[in-house]
Formats: sequence, C-alpha cells, structure tokens
Amino acid sequence: MVQADADLLILGAGPAGLSAAQYGSRANLKVLAIEKLSPGGQALVIDKLENYPGDVNPRSGFDFAQDMRRQAENFGAEIINDTVLSLRKEGSLFTAALGNGKELRSYAVILATGAVHRSLGISGEAEFSGRGVSYCATCDGPFFKGKKILVIGGGDAACDEAQYLSLLTDQVILIHRRDAFRAQKGLAQRVLRNPNIDVRLNTRPLEIRGDKQVTSVLLENCITNEQYEEPVSAVFVFAGAVPQTGLAPDAKTDEASYIITDQRMASSIPGLFAAGDIRSSPFRQVVVAAAEGAIAAHCAAEYIDTLKP
Ligand SMILES: Cc1cc2nc3c(=O)[nH]c(=O)nc-3n(C[C@H](O)[C@H](O)[C@H](O)COP(=O)(O)OP(=O)(O)OC[C@H]3O[C@@H](n4cnc5c(N)ncnc54)[C@H](O)[C@@H]3O)c2cc1C
Repeated sequence: MVQADADLLILGAGPAGLSAAQYGSRANLKVLAIEKLSPGGQALVIDKLENYPGDVNPRSGFDFAQDMRRQAENFGAEIINDTVLSLRKEGSLFTAALGNGKELRSYAVILATGAVHRSLGISGEAEFSGRGVSYCATCDGPFFKGKKILVIGGGDAACDEAQYLSLLTDQVILIHRRDAFRAQKGLAQRVLRNPNIDVRLNTRPLEIRGDKQVTSVLLENCITNEQYEEPVSAVFVFAGAVPQTGLAPDAKTDEASYIITDQRMASSIPGLFAAGDIRSSPFRQVVVAAAEGAIAAHCAAEYIDTLKP
C-alpha cells in the first residue's frame, strides 16, 4: 500500500502557509511545508508591518516572517525549499511533485501559494523591467535615492511602498486611475499628508519611455484626456495581484480566479484546503492570511482524523 510522507502538505510558506504549519504541528500532525523562495512570501517586502494586531512597535515584514518561520519550526513543522510542480489526488492521498524530481504524499493539502503582482501591459513595461521598472520598492528603491520616482496604484501596496520610497527621495509621484485610494484609510491619509509624495488621482500611465534606463512616462488625465510626458528615473508598479492557482486547476474559483472555500477553508476538492491571498475573500492582509491558515490547519486535522487508521 502507498504510504503518506506526511499527514499534511502545505504548498507555499507565506503568512498563510507558516501559520498553517504552526497550527498543524501543534495539532500533532506531521507537517511538510514546501516553499520555492524564502519563507515569508509577500510579507518579506513589507517595509513596516504596522497593522498586525498586538505588534505595537512596527517591524519589517522580513523580521516578522523570520519569527513566523521559527515559531512553525519550533513546533515541529519542516520547511522544504523547492517548487511544487504539480498536485494530483489518487484515492484518498494527494501527491505533490517537486522540482527535485521527488514526490510527497499526504492525506490533506493546504494550498497557500498566494498571489503575484499584475503587470500593467503598457508599452515599455516589459522592456524596462529591471532597468527602472520594478515591482518591489524595498528591493529596488535604494538604487533611486534622491531621484524622481513614479509609483502606480491605489491599494495598500502602492501606498505602503510610496511611503517607503519617500524616505529615499523627496520626489515621489503617486498616480491612481480612480478618484480615491483603495488602501486602508489611515495609510491613504498619511500618503496624502506626506510632503515628499505628489499624489495625482484620475491619472493613468500610457507608455514607459527610455534608452538604456527609464527616462520618462507618458501620463494621461482620465477626466480631461490631457496627455503629458513626465521625466522620471524609475517606475514602481503596484497594480493588483494574480492568484497562483495553477496547482489546483479543478478547484472551484470565483470570476477573478480566486479559490472558493467554505468557512472551514475547504475547497470543492475533498481534502484540499486553501488559505490566504489565493482564496476568494473581500480582504487580503497578513492577519487574514494567518487566521485562514490557522482555520485551514484545524479543519484539515479533523479531516485527516476521518481517514487515518
Ligand atoms: C508591497 C506590499 C505591501 C503590503 N503591505 C501590507 C501591510 O502593511 N499589512 C498587511 O497586513 N498586508 C500587507 N500586504 C499584503 C500581505 O503581504 C499578503 O496579504 C500576505 O502576504 C498573503 O499571504 P499568503 O501566505 O496568502 O501569500 P504570499 O505571501 O503570496 O505567499 C505565498 C508563498 O507561496 C510560495 N509559492 C507560490 N507558488 C509555489 C509553488 N508552486 N511551490 C512552492 N511555493 C510556492 C511563494 O513563493 C510565496 O512565498 C502587502 C503586500 C505587498 C506586496
């Protein structure tokens, strides 16, 4: 008979996966979490995580992620550094195929592969990616110290990263195509009050221009349709996210491709749970991902109990 390598496989070790790993291990499950990059996911690039309940002194998302990882490992979870290439279910066991050629089997799986940034799809974006076009301010911001920088987007990520960039230069322009930010109110207000950030609402980018590096962006006022060229040295894009659902193509999703679950985080496939940014939800934050990871692990443990001899 085919044996399981673990009770629970967790695919992705961002805040949702790490929280699930901690709760799963504390529930006495053998837990393997597989992460293709560094544990922490998108939280790694949060400049200051200031809205995690109980954390009175904001710390970097990087430090926060290190602690989440240590906590999960202290309770016995094992984190494997590899890419999950595919996932299949045969009988009651799931099999995950890894990049190293190995396969891992388990009774239940928590899909916590999160989301990645969405591209704008405008001319010059792909061409100048890595040459002035960036999707991570904490990673690339220091290259543009004192320079004029354009930030695109209106959600938490855009506002958070514009705040961070405003510490490096007093010439940040933040454009958003709508007439108000989607970001949390407190954060949006800080951005609006920041003297180093020139906020231009109702504005969209049409083209990114340059030679070897970005030199300017063609912008359009969405109300007047006036177009103008703005000289900038860098463009930081925060235009939303794409859920990473490729490992579960048969799971039921919403119209935006996020996985639909019930309140137990159970997907339409028995034994497959989903948590965090990959899940159909009105709010995507670290605290939400961590809470959903906890629920998913708790309910996966109950599901596994019904299968194990
Ligand atoms: C710039 C920025 C600022 C933000 N600011 C805040 C903030 O201030 N406060 C807040 O609460 N939230 C903030 N967020 C949102 C928060 O980071 C996310 O909601 C949270 O990280 C989601 O966690 P997750 O575990 O669901 O997904 P992710 O963090 O996306 O983690 C998913 C993990 O899965 C891994 N993975 C994907 N596919 C595979 C595969 N095939 N094999 C193995 N591993 C895989 C990825 O490498 C990744 O590590 C911010 C996000 C960004 C980008």
